[in-house]
Amino acid sequence: MPFLFFYVCPMNKTNFYAGPAILPQEVIQQAQEAVKDFAGTGLSILEVSHRSKEFVKIMDDARGLVRELMQLNDDREVLFLHGGGLSQFHMVPMNLLNESETASYFDTGTWAHGAIEEAKLFGKVHIACSSKDTNYNHIPKEISIASDSKYVHVTSNNTIYGTQLNFANHQSLLTNYSVVCDMSSDIFSRQLDYNQFDLIYAAAQKNAGAAGVTIVVVNKNILGKVDRKIPRMLDYRLHIEKESMLNTPSVFAVYVSYLTLQWIKKEGIKTIEERNARKAKKLYDAIDNSSLFTGNVAKEDRSVMNVCFTMKDKSLEKKFAEYTLAKGIVGIEGHRSVGGFRASIYNAMPESGVDVLVHAINDFKV
Ligand SMILES: *Cc1c(COP(=O)(O)O)cnc(C)c1O
Repeated sequence: MPFLFFYVCPMNKTNFYAGPAILPQEVIQQAQEAVKDFAGTGLSILEVSHRSKEFVKIMDDARGLVRELMQLNDDREVLFLHGGGLSQFHMVPMNLLNESETASYFDTGTWAHGAIEEAKLFGKVHIACSSKDTNYNHIPKEISIASDSKYVHVTSNNTIYGTQLNFANHQSLLTNYSVVCDMSSDIFSRQLDYNQFDLIYAAAQKNAGAAGVTIVVVNKNILGKVDRKIPRMLDYRLHIEKESMLNTPSVFAVYVSYLTLQWIKKEGIKTIEERNARKAKKLYDAIDNSSLFTGNVAKEDRSVMNVCFTMKDKSLEKKFAEYTLAKGIVGIEGHRSVGGFRASIYNAMPESGVDVLVHAINDFKV
């Protein structure tokens, strides 16, 4: 059935893009069906009112799925917002930090640094640690938190550099402080006590759907404590009150997240975590066992989501890029600030996809 083959896998590509990124095939097929006929309405998801009972149910179910997957306490609220991860860089301090107050920030990558710059617009920022001097090739071990910190901001996975926080190393931080976490590139990738965080945010386009929506989970008890006036669209309390329908939500993106969350529930986070660990091990082993390639970051801080590597002989990188492209491998060029290669192997990447790249690394001949 060659036709079916082309439908499922249009050009036999393996997608390692960092974001927007690979989605489960069944999510793409279900989204395709909803573009034609959404929930039996006879209308496309692209033309249906966000106030229709069918879509209101999707929004409610999507928020419920996040609650269920994270096993959230009752004081946690789940929101689907606009504006990407970047908008959270200013919404967080705007809602949580008075001008005279201090927040501590981990400076572990480009996104973490971006969050710092925005927070400075609203209050005082203490840098708890930084690996900027070494182009963010590790997570610093020495952490200093300002004792009067209103909150501590961490980035759980540094998408561009390929480092990831091991929360087991930060238990006292999580116990003693109000922690805000940018989980954009590793949300739902591992089992965690999600109630340890007072605020979690994640742009959906890496591990939780398509571009256009950002998941926010917030402890409502920390809100309403700043003096400043907050524009309506940037006020978490209003979004909570209006159940993520303060204005027209990104209907289609919310729908794709809903489908992705259902897929995550079906697979189970435990199964996903184990598969992610196997995928990452395979790829790092291939890099470590090769005489041509080398990993970029400290081994103990290696990300399970974004595997960053270079060639010992830089002049071979163009040749390897062409070699992989011919094998249908897409999106492994490293971020422009790092160079080399980055293979993003998010939840939706099957083990067979990682095998394609592992074979390319093993088989590439100079
Ligand atoms: C991609 C990413 C962002 C930025 O998300 P946008 O939706 O592009 O604004 C922020 N933080 C992290 C960790 C990311 O990976």
